[in-house]
Order: sequence, then C-alpha cells, then structure tokens
Amino acid sequence: MAIFKKKIDKMHLQQLTSDIAHELRTPLTNLQGYLEAIIDGVWEADNERIQECYVEVIRLNKIVDELQELSLLEDFDFILHKEKFDFRELCLSVIRSFELASQEKNISIKLFVKSDTAILADYNRLKQVLINLLSNAIKYSYENGIVIVNYYVKKGNYIIEVNDNGIGIPKEDLPFIFERFYRTDKSRSKKTGGTGIGLAITKAIVENHNGSISARSSDKLGTSFVIKLPRG
Ligand code: ADP
Repeated sequence: MAIFKKKIDKMHLQQLTSDIAHELRTPLTNLQGYLEAIIDGVWEADNERIQECYVEVIRLNKIVDELQELSLLEDFDFILHKEKFDFRELCLSVIRSFELASQEKNISIKLFVKSDTAILADYNRLKQVLINLLSNAIKYSYENGIVIVNYYVKKGNYIIEVNDNGIGIPKEDLPFIFERFYRTDKSRSKKTGGTGIGLAITKAIVENHNGSISARSSDKLGTSFVIKLPRG
C-alpha cells in the first residue's frame, strides 16, 4: 500500500511539474521574444513595448502566487482559522470591491439571504472563494448581465450559490473546470488574464471546510456554482 501511494505521488508530481513548465513557457517565451527584439534593434524600447514585457511578468507572478496558495491549501498540515461572522456583511463587502469591474460591463450583482446570516468558517478563505467566483461570474458574463448570490441553510449545511447568465461552460468541459490550469478557451485567457488556478483554489478551500462544490451550466445561458459547507 505504501509503495502504491508513493507511485501515485510520483506520477502526480511528474504531471504537476510538466503542467507548470507548460504554463510558464508561454509568458517566458513571449518575454524572451520581446527582449530579443529590443536588443536586436527591431523594436524600440518605448513605453508600449516595456508595457508588453510588464504584462508577461505580471502574469508569471500571478501563476507563481496562485500555485503557492494552492500548494499551501493542499498541505496535510494546513489549518483553517474558523470564526463566527456575518455572511451578508462579508458578501456585501466583496460585492462592493467589484463595483468598478461590474460597472464597466453594466452587470448587476444581487444578494439574497434566506437564513440567519451567522456562519462559522475561515473568514479570509471564504472571502477568497467569493472573490474567485464573483470575478469569474463578471469575467465570463456578457454586458448587462446579472449575477445572483443566494445564501441559505439546508439540512445542516450552509449553501452558497453564485449564478450568472454569462457565456456558460460547454458540457464536455464541465467535469474538468476544478482542475488546475484548466480553461475552456486557452486563447481567450490572454485577454481575460485567467490562469485556470482559481477554481482549484476555491475547491481546495471548500474541501478544507469538509464541504463540496459543484457547477451546472448551459452553453451561452449561464453558470451556477453551488457550495455546501457543513454547519458547526
Ligand atoms: P481562470 O483564471 O481561467 O478564470 P478558473 O480556475 O477560475 O480560472 O476557471 C477555470 C475555467 O472555468 C475558466 O478559464 C473558464 O473557462 C471556466 N469558468 C469558470 N467560471 C466560469 C463562469 N462563471 N462562466 C463561464 N466559464 C467559467
């Protein structure tokens, strides 16, 4: 059994290393190309070119930061700092932080709370979950879209739903969206800045709370994420 586990770990590690190398390659290759063009005198080192290099460095940093966060959350020794707080207040403050992004696309974000709003969870981690889901909901919505957050308690679980009427996720991609680096449209990720790590982090946080997360989606009609967190 111990040998079997070791083998799986080795396979996992190999896959992880290969995925990371693959993801870092694109920004690094772009950066190298831009710098070589400047060194060779093909490009002038003007503000615009420097800005293009800067964008790639930002992307590299984002990938590394998110990977570090994911590795922390997947550590056996990871400890949650649970406390009782008001879910409505947390949610409203996260919604407020997206005011500019939602206004840019004229998206309205609504919150419906149908239960007592006290929740026992890790405040900062749950905040991260809401940030990830709301930023995706906005990112993958059309102009004038609607994002709805529902919160209620059912059968001993806190339930958090984040619904949007955006571009949706194709049926064949749905089983994989919580895997690190998975993006339904890799070519679009340059525009949206997506790394494909956000939902893996979200799932790891939910599972650290012994909860579960699932997604339902219809292509071009929208997506719903449902989180169940056990009470207590
Ligand atoms: P990213 O940083 O690329 O958004 P995520 O891990 O957060 O990475 O999401 C993985 C992929 O799942 C995204 O690239 C996108 O294709 C899809 N996705 C996530 N949330 C939504 C949503 N609300 N609507 C449509 N597609 C989504």
